[in-house]
Amino acid sequence: TPDLWPHVSTPLPGPKSAELFARMDKVAAAPMQDHDEVPFVEVRKEDCLIVDVDGNVFADLVAGWGATPYGATPATVTEAVVAAQRNYGMEITDYVQNDIAIELAEKLVAIAPPGITRVMVSLSGTLAVEAGVKLAREATGRPMILVFHGQYHGEVTYLTASVSTDLAEVNSASSAYVGGLVFAPYPQQFRAPFHRGPGPYDDTLYMDFIEEWLLVHQVEPTQIAGVLIEPVLGEGGIHVPSAAFWERLTAACDRWGWKLILDEVQTGMGRCGTVFAGEHWDLRPDILLLGKGVAAGGQPIAAVMATEEVMGTTDVHGGGTFAWTPAACAGASAGIDVLTNGETLANVARIEETARRILSPLVDEVEQVGDVRMLGAFIGIEFVTDKASIKPAPEFHRVVHQECVNRGVLGVTQLGKWVYRLQPPLTMPIELFEWACETIADVIRDV
Ligand code: PMP
Repeated sequence: TPDLWPHVSTPLPGPKSAELFARMDKVAAAPMQDHDEVPFVEVRKEDCLIVDVDGNVFADLVAGWGATPYGATPATVTEAVVAAQRNYGMEITDYVQNDIAIELAEKLVAIAPPGITRVMVSLSGTLAVEAGVKLAREATGRPMILVFHGQYHGEVTYLTASVSTDLAEVNSASSAYVGGLVFAPYPQQFRAPFHRGPGPYDDTLYMDFIEEWLLVHQVEPTQIAGVLIEPVLGEGGIHVPSAAFWERLTAACDRWGWKLILDEVQTGMGRCGTVFAGEHWDLRPDILLLGKGVAAGGQPIAAVMATEEVMGTTDVHGGGTFAWTPAACAGASAGIDVLTNGETLANVARIEETARRILSPLVDEVEQVGDVRMLGAFIGIEFVTDKASIKPAPEFHRVVHQECVNRGVLGVTQLGKWVYRLQPPLTMPIELFEWACETIADVIRDV
């Protein structure tokens, strides 16, 4: 509907949403989410808008946390999914091959960074990371993986261990290593431990920290199989490392034989303005993990990609019954066509430019805006109590988020955290995104 625009005409939650929440809360193990965070029940998407059961309309700056990269599924993608479902039904693709899966594998290899020539099926971001870790271990014969605090890699036991955002734990016993995970602070996280005040800082120091850490904990660098890293820290608050950090990290990878395992589940497939975020620093991963944005057809699918050298030396299996079903493959394949049509990435550039123009000045204007960070359509506004101490301000964040929702803008928040995240569909019309940014800026100035 061309004239559909965000508007909220009931108190939130509206009466129908409230009724559905009450029903859900009676049967759910725990509330599916804090209803204060998302105070409505979705009934459908219209392009890049979310419509709730009470008829309220919100600008979607969440995009399924990256898994609905084009807003409401584009018609070409939906048609591909439906046709595959009709023609093939279900198939265990990593057992019985089908032409759709083969075409998808070829397309993924064609868009992959130089050196990545092989692809393995996977079902979710979590399982892709799991397979990536196994690949690195098997390819090197080494037990340990270097991870970074505040990263998110999925919900399996081994990987949840890496999600702590509490910097105090970096040096604590719990971070010594958990079953072969070696922890390091992610560049700029909370702009510490090397830099606690505002202003520029030198994040090459993070490599000094890692080297010192290995010494203190008597970890031989040659015990480490690989470095598992999000090119831009997502759930942990949109931190974009410097080129200098990557230079030192990749030099350490070369020196010690660490496999570079890029978790691009969130950042890949256009989110950061290039097909893969690693392109910004010309990174050459050994292992590349994809999820969310690949699943453009709304069917669960993920991919594990690697160099000839890694895949050729291992016997790791990454599949599973529902990995790469024909419908999922068809949706992913049609989604790649949208991603590479020239217009989609041009729109991401417009989104970034708009966010910089409207949101970045808030750092100078509002005491509680500590920082505005972004790469492409991956945007974070950090709230602090004041600029001098840069202490997190989750309460300010909560109030901003709730007022934005009241005005028809849904961003990504997690109450208790202090970075408000905006990750609109890559195809969001720029007038809508501009309006959403203006609304957010007004709210932040007003609160
Ligand atoms: N890695 C990253 C960087 C993620 O952001 C996520 C999900 N938020 C995952 C892995 C796990 O993916 P999934 O939820 O598909 O299992």
